[in-house]
Amino acid sequence: MSTDTIEKTATRSAKSGQPVIELVGMSKWYGNFQVLKDIDLTVYEGERIVVCGPSGSGKSTMIRCINQLEFHQEGDVIIHGKAYGKDEKQNDLIRRDIGMVFQSFNLFPHLSVLENCTMAQIWVKETPKAEAEAVAMHFLERVRIPEQAHKYPLQLSGGQQQRVAIARALCMNPKIMLFDEPTSALDPEMINEVLEAMIELAQSGMTMIVVTHEMNFARKVADRVIFMDQGEIVEQAPPHAFFDNPQYDRTQLFLSQIL
Ligand code: ADP
Ligand code: MG
Repeated sequence: MSTDTIEKTATRSAKSGQPVIELVGMSKWYGNFQVLKDIDLTVYEGERIVVCGPSGSGKSTMIRCINQLEFHQEGDVIIHGKAYGKDEKQNDLIRRDIGMVFQSFNLFPHLSVLENCTMAQIWVKETPKAEAEAVAMHFLERVRIPEQAHKYPLQLSGGQQQRVAIARALCMNPKIMLFDEPTSALDPEMINEVLEAMIELAQSGMTMIVVTHEMNFARKVADRVIFMDQGEIVEQAPPHAFFDNPQYDRTQLFLSQIL
């Protein structure tokens, strides 16, 4: 199959899938400052969304609302048909389907790579230790660092640490993966090894929202690119339309600054 055919098939299957994330009229304020303004967004099963936009436009806040690391004040956040609400147990169950990878890795420095990958499995999912370790090794192999399993995070390069963070998230068997500028803290020579792990994940059919300014990644992987500015989704389009024919002045200005 040519790359073109693969991409078309992926887009078609994404569109025919179920909605997995629905943001409906979502607004959020920090004090008097409205950081998110009436956000509407539906993400379908298997879709890969890239979110870009100027610093401070609300990208991190929007994706953190999806797993309720931040709380919205108006509208609904619906995951697999279930809205977050007042019932914290229910919210925890909804949240369990979502993995997240941060700019700053957020690994536990006092735990080995293997322990970083087994801890939540053992304590949250009550997986027996041997089984949790087998799952961890499986995902460390997938991100190509099984030989680092017994080291500590600070003994690894930034690129390796971020791949551990990806493996750790995958160990919880998420249905959705959120990435918040996963390569921004990395030295340039390490960016590709992390992007490659993310590309493989995308090819496996994972539903993904990726905040990034890596526009080659967006062109290669995204079904849709979303541009945010001042708390709003200004424009969204498939990558070729977004990059080659942006509709709005704000998008054109942003692209002229980063490309
Ligand atoms: P982005 O990820 O696009 O750079 P953020 O979502 O981090 O943007 O931030 C959006 C806006 O909200 C910025 O103006 C930022 O200063 C503000 N902000 C973010 N977090 C907080 C917070 N905890 N308290 C107050 N303001 C915040
Ligand atoms: Mg951010």
